[in-house]
Amino acid sequence: MGKRYFCDYCERSFQDNMHNRKKHLFGVQHQRAKKAWFDHFRSYADIWKDEQAKKPCRKFLQRGICDFGPSCRFSHMSEAEMYGLQRKMQDERRRSEGWEDPSEARPSVAAWLTTREKRRSGQASKGVQDQQEEERTQGDIPPQIFSIPDLPPSLVPPPPGGWKAEGSAQWG
Ligand SMILES: [Zn+2]
Ligand SMILES: [Zn+2]
Repeated sequence: MGKRYFCDYCERSFQDNMHNRKKHLFGVQHQRAKKAWFDHFRSYADIWKDEQAKKPCRKFLQRGICDFGPSCRFSHMSEAEMYGLQRKMQDERRRSEGWEDPSEARPSVAAWLTTREKRRSGQASKGVQDQQEEERTQGDIPPQIFSIPDLPPSLVPPPPGGWKAEGSAQWG
């Protein structure tokens, strides 16, 4: 088996020779994957601004292909794609301004901290013992923590009643 060329952008490999490389690197699929990779680091607003400033590429819109690929100075975005981009851009702005995403109706960590603070100050008159009991209950754990998959063991909340101390552990 000859040498293989692996393209990180496209996540695929092929036999490494001049012809295959050229064919791949100039192929539409590769150019698209590469552009998508770099777009990943730009904000949707930047992409939108760029695309909107360009005139539509007539060649691309008529024939679906264009020799210039993503480096074409005309826009290859269809109306639907521009609309989708606009939606993403609005989402992005909302998030950066700290708006709550209505699809995530879970209480925020900030809200949890506020109620926790209130509860604690309300308890100041009670004994220390009670306060410690309170801290061990499940309700004191931010709900977000349970939605994180594969939490490292050190971050997993203790079971109700706290961890059982292993008195008989032997250390070698
Ligand atoms: Zn590629
Ligand atoms: Zn073009």
